[in-house]
Amino acid sequence: MAMALGAVCRRWRLFHRRVLIPWPTVGSRPGLCGLSSGGEGPGSGVRVRFGPSPTGFLHLGGLRTALYNYIFAKKHRGQFILRIEDTDQSRLVPGATESIEDVLEWAGIPPDESPRHGGSCGPYQQSERLDLYRKAAETLVKRNAAYYCFCTPSRLEILKKEALRMRQTPRYDNRCRHLSAEQIEKRLARGSPYVIRFHLDQGTVTFEDLVYGLSRMEPASVEGDPVILKADGFPTYHLANVVDDHHMKISHVLRGTEWLTSTAKHVMMYSAFGWQPPIFAHLPLLLNTDGSKLSKRQSDLFIQNLSQSGYLPEALLDIVTNCGSGFSGNRTGRTLEELVSEFDLTGITTHSALLDLDKLPEFNRIHLLRRIENSSSRQQLVMELQARVEKVYKEKLLEGEALCTDYVERVLEHRKGHITSLLDLLKPAYSYLWIRPPVPREQMEGLTTEGEKICSMVISLFQNWTEGNGTMAELNSELRTLQAQFTTTKYSVMMKLLRLVLSGQQQGAGVAEMMLSLGPEEVCERLQRVIVH
Ligand code: GLU
Repeated sequence: MAMALGAVCRRWRLFHRRVLIPWPTVGSRPGLCGLSSGGEGPGSGVRVRFGPSPTGFLHLGGLRTALYNYIFAKKHRGQFILRIEDTDQSRLVPGATESIEDVLEWAGIPPDESPRHGGSCGPYQQSERLDLYRKAAETLVKRNAAYYCFCTPSRLEILKKEALRMRQTPRYDNRCRHLSAEQIEKRLARGSPYVIRFHLDQGTVTFEDLVYGLSRMEPASVEGDPVILKADGFPTYHLANVVDDHHMKISHVLRGTEWLTSTAKHVMMYSAFGWQPPIFAHLPLLLNTDGSKLSKRQSDLFIQNLSQSGYLPEALLDIVTNCGSGFSGNRTGRTLEELVSEFDLTGITTHSALLDLDKLPEFNRIHLLRRIENSSSRQQLVMELQARVEKVYKEKLLEGEALCTDYVERVLEHRKGHITSLLDLLKPAYSYLWIRPPVPREQMEGLTTEGEKICSMVISLFQNWTEGNGTMAELNSELRTLQAQFTTTKYSVMMKLLRLVLSGQQQGAGVAEMMLSLGPEEVCERLQRVIVH
């Protein structure tokens, strides 16, 4: 009973804010989109955002945050917004903004509003919203919730060094809080460079997080007043985040747990503006299996690299959600639709999620099999495989029909469920699919003296074999019948011989499968080459 009640409470909170702050009361709630203070059920104005900084390319950690936001939006028929948080101009990586949006589209989780698609709350790139932040910062100054700070970088450096010498955490000493209006006027008139800092009031900030529960923090006791507007006119993350979440009518903030402590400051800012904060849900850490943090230096985590390595978007979405909580059951192979229908934000726990990349090939195998079995997605795979084969084998490619669509489709059909990626088919073990192997005369003679005879009988078998008609079982039984006519060559030796002639390999795929993939014409062609008498 207690558990049932707990679950009901969590669900109630999903759409009902509970922000408890002891000082300045939360004022009027302008521009609140859809979610009245009384709260409404699902489908009532859910707007979420993914706010990456383009300081690098998207990796699995970022994809997970984007995905949870997307799923939550779709589940509640709301909007998913992409907002590029490019306020730190010194760390921008060229091309990262475009690439982030490309990746979301590739992954099948496109934003409803974004720099590329626009929308009613744009622009969606923070560097294009500077006026808004400046006005907001000035509003806070007027309300005595923020102030001009003229401290020079060298003074701040001295403060920092002094704190470190005393083995204390460096923090700003809030000196400019105490400047008089006259002093400020004078310095502004003189053109002295300044930043704007938010005045952190003493006291406890209490807010409810949908995952971490009730959080109590005292920001002013651990840090100095934070800069909200920098000397270059750009806002810092905290100001831009709060202003944008308000103006973009964000109802729920789903982001990594590393932002949980900043939330206290954000809640204070909402209060100072007189705005209603969104509902917060911080996602637990995503870690490597050894417990270490995911790092931007791990190149195997970048979505572009994973895609180049043949991983399908649905396998990536599946693995980043499978290792965490928030979904009913714990199974592999979920499609995006299933992820949406099985998601329950109130079921997310605070346990860190361990990302086991070793499982990725198996996840990919399952989703690749699904794509091959679906006629519309199969066509895309065929084209991709054709392009990749062409690139790898170039002029060595089988003449004529080797890369024709029917052929490539047949290859996929026979190998589905066995391969973990399209790239498997480019490995040397599968080269026979794309190039004719050399004639293995010597090896053949080492196996049996009946080689040529066997080959001619298999040719006869295939001359009467209608392409696409015979099953693997039928072909195997025909080969058994054929072998029975030879007295000195055992079945296993005959198979070795055929494999060698058809693929140039001593081990590998089953002979019948190889034959069905290559098709009767190509099988006959390859067998014919070894017959000289
Ligand atoms: N720009 C922040 C990041 O890259 C986003 C934090 C947030 O979602 O509030 O992680």
